[in-house]
Amino acid sequence: MQTYRTLLKKGTAILEDAKIPEAGLDAWLLLENAAGISRAWYFAHDTEEVSEETAGAYLELCGRRGARIPLQHLTHRAYFMEYEFYVDENVLIPRQDTETLVETARVLLADRKRPRILDMCTGSGCILISLLADKEDCFGVGTDISGDALAVARRNAAAIGVGERAVFTESDIFSGEIFQEKDGKSPVKYDMLVSNPPYIPTGEIQELQDEVRLHDPIPALDGRGDGLYFYREITRQAQQYLKPDGWLLYEIGCSQGKDVADMMKQAGFVSVDIKKDLAGLDRVVLGKMPSGIDPRAEQ
Ligand code: GLN
Repeated sequence: MQTYRTLLKKGTAILEDAKIPEAGLDAWLLLENAAGISRAWYFAHDTEEVSEETAGAYLELCGRRGARIPLQHLTHRAYFMEYEFYVDENVLIPRQDTETLVETARVLLADRKRPRILDMCTGSGCILISLLADKEDCFGVGTDISGDALAVARRNAAAIGVGERAVFTESDIFSGEIFQEKDGKSPVKYDMLVSNPPYIPTGEIQELQDEVRLHDPIPALDGRGDGLYFYREITRQAQQYLKPDGWLLYEIGCSQGKDVADMMKQAGFVSVDIKKDLAGLDRVVLGKMPSGIDPRAEQ
């Protein structure tokens, strides 16, 4: 007879053999998922028999995790800020690093009334949705080049209860319809533009760990030649879409701080600053539109 405890042991062994870091934790999380049980339930029932069906499904999941499929793609769950997000192969798995961006943005938004936020390259929607969930008078637009990613973001916004304050729409940087003039009306201006764009130099993608290189969507990673393509393009055009005193915030790769900060200063942003993540690495660059300067009005 196979019990929950023996099954968990088998799963842990499969992951240890495959040299998965934190094999024990992943083996547990997969069991929780396959058997639909909680930790408390397990401790009271670990010597009970598991059905063949559950055991089979669990061992299959462990085999796939052993083949370096990320845990979150198997459970379809990722935790970010205070929320649970649905994820699949169409989106980058939300990273803890990105919480630095959200925390920085939250502080800057705190005293703004009814702010509008634009999240460019929204992926799972984790950044925008966390900001909207935290502040009830915020409205947001999330854009992505991938329609499949936008479907994931919409699903997450609905599940977390912010669907009515979020619009997700397809756009390659600023080329989408939402950024164009319509019926003689200028596009909306935002209080904040946040973005965690693809930022890995193309030549470095092959050096990433298998979970990332083989299972995160490549377009969500690839920042072109020097990794800075999206920062350059977004920074160049952002002022047209930001209100005076509006903020531009980026997540960056830890060696990109100076380049991105210089780019923003050159484009006319003020109060440009770099923030570090919990590991002490440069992770966020931010800057503000000067007060009262509207580049469009000056044209
Ligand atoms: N904005 C999303 C995130 O932070 C997706 C980022 C991306 O696809 N590069 O997870």
